[in-house]
Amino acid sequence: MHCPFCSANDTKVIDSRLVSDGAQVRRRRECLACRERFTTFEAAELLMPRLIKQDGSREPFDENKLRNGMLRALEKRPVSMESIEASVAQIKHSLQAMGEREVKSRVIGEMVMEQLSKLDQVAYVRFASVYRSFQDISEFQEEIDRLQSASHESK
Ligand SMILES: [Zn+2]
Repeated sequence: MHCPFCSANDTKVIDSRLVSDGAQVRRRRECLACRERFTTFEAAELLMPRLIKQDGSREPFDENKLRNGMLRALEKRPVSMESIEASVAQIKHSLQAMGEREVKSRVIGEMVMEQLSKLDQVAYVRFASVYRSFQDISEFQEEIDRLQSASHESK
């Protein structure tokens, strides 16, 4: 591994530990050339499908984009970062479990809505209103009604 400070090749691991419940290895390294220290995180990679956008173009799955979309919907809502990360992990897991090389971006949109509906109803409605770009107010009202009856059923 190259040193990020001086690009030298010789670095040595000075500490190594499991993090994120063993899903990652955190390594502390020291550059033998400049003596700077830095940290790396290593994780096993599972295949993430590429996304097929509405216009047919493809793009790689972007976890940050997913998280940011959810954070925007959850802005100023009483939901912990931990719950949000759990939802992001759940969506990634579902995508990997599909085992597809490509999925429609709409599939992820639906997954986000499903997760948000469990986390926070206000965030869900915010996201859904942008994502589905409701044509008119009655369609929006239908969605809210559907939501309310769904949450009654689950209680
Ligand atoms: Zn260096």
